[in-house]
Amino acid sequence: MVIVMEKHTSEGNVEHVVAELTSRGFDVHRSTGSDHTVLGVVGHVDTIDPREFELMEGVQEVVRVSEPYKLSSRTFRREKSVVKARGVDIGGHDVVVMAGPCTIENEAQVFETARRVAKAGARVLRGGAYKPRTSPYAFQGMGVEGLKLLRAAGDEFNLATVSEVMEISQIEGMLPYVDILQVGARNMQNFNLLSALGQIRKPILLKRGMSATIQEWLLASEYILSGGNYDVILCERGIRTFETYTRNTLDISAIPVIDKLSHLPIIADPSHAVGRRDKVMPLARAIIAAGADGLLIEVHHDPEKAVCDGPQSLYPDQFIRLMDELRIIVPAVGRGL
Ligand code: PEP
Ligand code: MN
Repeated sequence: MVIVMEKHTSEGNVEHVVAELTSRGFDVHRSTGSDHTVLGVVGHVDTIDPREFELMEGVQEVVRVSEPYKLSSRTFRREKSVVKARGVDIGGHDVVVMAGPCTIENEAQVFETARRVAKAGARVLRGGAYKPRTSPYAFQGMGVEGLKLLRAAGDEFNLATVSEVMEISQIEGMLPYVDILQVGARNMQNFNLLSALGQIRKPILLKRGMSATIQEWLLASEYILSGGNYDVILCERGIRTFETYTRNTLDISAIPVIDKLSHLPIIADPSHAVGRRDKVMPLARAIIAAGADGLLIEVHHDPEKAVCDGPQSLYPDQFIRLMDELRIIVPAVGRGL
């Protein structure tokens, strides 16, 4: 349930409504917009008679949220959310490009790739230190030593950093090095992990599960938001379909659909969606044309030697070309880069 307060109502009126709700055992999530304060009420709201609150001083209307996801919905927050990570705004006017290798391999690799993507205009450096590999015999990531390299390269080239967290025990150790914690497709419904990420105050990049519906994805985000961490960025990364030519199928329609249903920033990852470098650039252009707030792209300074996902990693020169193309597309959709 959502309680919309009257335009510019007094703080006292808002506090009075919040106090009444909390005394009845409900969780209240407050969203202060430019005009209205909106209160998201979570709990067994069926027991509430909306008229009781409609009659309270300063209340404009009481709306039952029909969607199962609440805090991520546009009903709770009409304006788009902007997530801030080390001075980078995700969901604002400019689209944000996050780029870097699939996995951190060594100092030379991460620094050289970071240098090239930063020069081309990327704002966030990606690189996995804990890798969810399909095979237990494949490289599993460098762990904290890798994160130290990621942070150092980010600092050197003025890039924020994003890296995947696979389990609760890794969260604490990642915080000093990472500006955005990524939840991978395979963990989208790891509800204990999501709840733990709701307790920290750092942006979370929540990838869509490879067979998750949009509703399941938004409900997953709800686990983080309901803990009080409102800085969630959604990332479409391709879903499993009957098509075998590409690694996954990019669900481009998810971008305008999410934009309608949710205030959360939505970006997309063409690299894991298509799985081959020769198709990454057209998909990236389509993602931005469809209205996404950004991209997550695998780039490697020497993809032939990449330990992981080399065939889908762009060469730095391709990444430069892509950024030039995006500079032509963004004004057409009312954005900057
Ligand atoms: C990744 O981005 O490194 C990754 C493993 O992606 P996904 O979870 O989408 O497969
Ligand atoms: Mn990868």
